[in-house]
Amino acid sequence: MNIGIVGLGLIGGSLGLDLRSRGYKVLGVSRREQTCTQAITRGVVDHASVNPAILATADIVFICTPLAAILQTVEQLIPHLSLETVLTDVGSVKLPIVEAIAPVWDNFVGGHPMAGTADSGIEAAVPNLFSLKPYVLTPIATTPTHAVKAVEEIVRHLGATLYHCRPYDHDRAVSLISHLPVMVSASLITTCMSDEPDVVKLAQQLASSGFRDTSRVGGGNPELGVMMAQYNKEELLRSLQHYHHNLEALINLIKQEDWTSLKQQLELNQLARPQFLQDASAMPKAP
Ligand code: NAP
Repeated sequence: MNIGIVGLGLIGGSLGLDLRSRGYKVLGVSRREQTCTQAITRGVVDHASVNPAILATADIVFICTPLAAILQTVEQLIPHLSLETVLTDVGSVKLPIVEAIAPVWDNFVGGHPMAGTADSGIEAAVPNLFSLKPYVLTPIATTPTHAVKAVEEIVRHLGATLYHCRPYDHDRAVSLISHLPVMVSASLITTCMSDEPDVVKLAQQLASSGFRDTSRVGGGNPELGVMMAQYNKEELLRSLQHYHHNLEALINLIKQEDWTSLKQQLELNQLARPQFLQDASAMPKAP
């Protein structure tokens, strides 16, 4: 089977490494010649070009360009594809992408691997990025079953855990567990950096694993963060407003020195976190 990947960055490059190691022939397309050359050197793809015509023989194509470029990427690809080719994307927001692409390509299946690092570009590509990570597909009523099955088979070969949901439900859920944490963690970094210089310096020397964990997602790819906000604006604002409300509640408890209620709240959270993470691993997967 020939698999096409468009956008040879962190996600596209990592996909290529895994798919080739599982015996698929991988054809890559990227915007810059330099990225194509690097992708071949790193063993990410069998062939690479800036010309989408290279994908004429692809059975499935993964669109791995930034969110803002996905629709344009599909429009540029269409004249070069066989009508049977299945298209799927990896964009972090699903409703606007599915609404834009489903009408222009029948065999389109929205998708989102819940995996990443703070880095970007072809240099950031790593093997096994998707192994044991959730990978959600968002087919709609008109998505052909054979197209969904074709993408599912590849996702299973990546060792990812497959989920299905509606595009809207995906966007609401990821605003809570992915997009909100990016904004919260980004504000944490801003807060730390904006104290007096001597205090910042000492804080920097004392920062250990807790700060490393809580600041990680806020220090990631800025373009991706902006895209999340732009494309999932309503859901992100809803999550931020709930977060703001909960933060205000904590501030009030501290101001009032209501240590009993604060302890109760923290005890609830101590119980809720493992339950939240455990329930997710016990949830039904896609058949
Ligand atoms: P990335 O590392 O920046 O890679 C994107 C690649 O697309 C770049 O290497 C670039 O190739 C190409 N590209 C950039 N702008 C383009 C444009 N305007 N037109 C055509 N090609 C363009 O980004 P990424 O993190 O892999 O993200 C790619 C997709 O994965 C996004 O849709 C994102 O929402 C999704 N995603 C990201 C993560 C994450 O944690 N990073 C996780 C899950 C899903 P050249 O080098 O050739 O310019």
